Amino acid sequence: RDVLLSARGLRVDYFDQAEPVHAVRDVDLTLYRGETLGIVGESGCGKSTLVTALTRLERPPAVTTSGTVDFHGDDGPVDLLRLGERELRALRWERIAIVFQSAMNALNPVHRLGAQFADVLRLHRGLSRSDAWQRAGELLAMVGIPADRARAYPHELSGGMRQRATIALALACEPDLVVMDEPTTAVDVVMQRQILRQVARLKRELGFSVIFITHDLSLLIEIADRIAVMYAGRVVETGQARQLYADPRHPYTAALRSAFPPLHGPRREITGIPGSPPGLRHPPAGCPFHPRCPQRFDPCDQEVPPLLGGEGGEVACHLHDGLRASREPHESHEP
Ligand code: SF4
Ligand code: MG
Repeated sequence: RDVLLSARGLRVDYFDQAEPVHAVRDVDLTLYRGETLGIVGESGCGKSTLVTALTRLERPPAVTTSGTVDFHGDDGPVDLLRLGERELRALRWERIAIVFQSAMNALNPVHRLGAQFADVLRLHRGLSRSDAWQRAGELLAMVGIPADRARAYPHELSGGMRQRATIALALACEPDLVVMDEPTTAVDVVMQRQILRQVARLKRELGFSVIFITHDLSLLIEIADRIAVMYAGRVVETGQARQLYADPRHPYTAALRSAFPPLHGPRREITGIPGSPPGLRHPPAGCPFHPRCPQRFDPCDQEVPPLLGGEGGEVACHLHDGLRASREPHESHEP
């Protein structure tokens, strides 16, 4: 399959304390062209830090300390970690666009909506003022906002409209990749569904790839082709969305599934995940999930499970790496 973005050995550390805090640890992640990759995990697991590093938007005290992030554009792969500010600016909007959790932060409150679209379109697309305003209206209409709302100020729109407007703005230059960090957290469930449907439709029509971050695994079933589950700064499971949801292999993925009811399908009893995610400063030794894991066994608190598998799916858990089998007493040893 055609790779669009591939991260290898990515590490992000926070340098605001005496000791660096490892927020993202040796993450390998591949995004294929045209797919929606969901990244899921509880807050503080490093998922936002990971995507700011992937898109080179991390700011001190966060520093990407090692790894590569190859972006496969038309002229072959470039390592985003090696690009200067000018080259990065050229990539943003046109190749990679980002939609953040809070639409209020993305939109300038003192400028009319259309003016913000027009700025981006004139700078990156060289459109004239009137063409840019015209295009702004078309882009807004694409996400179900009447074109004449281009004259509105952000505060004159509802939260759901503002969030859809930021999605339209991200699509203004027809990027290859749109990164969405919890884009529906601030809106109600009805609006959430409407936004997800719109994103799926636009993706089909325009052919971009999506990285979609959320803490809600059930939401990803609606939109993701593949899912990566993060815990304590690491990717602990990847797989095809339906497969991973139907048959989670990592006990943490199973716990996340129980914590969020599916938007469609039979209702299940919701069980929260006992315990809380570990602080990144002093994560537990061995498997970081072991203090909360109902299936932990002897070496889980000492040995970090490696992420093993291939394109079909990967998992970092001793239940699946042969360690469990090797620790179980053999029948022949019994008296
Ligand atoms: Fe649970 Fe052990 Fe697997 Fe970690 S490695 S998730 S503690 S069984
Ligand atoms: Mg976040």
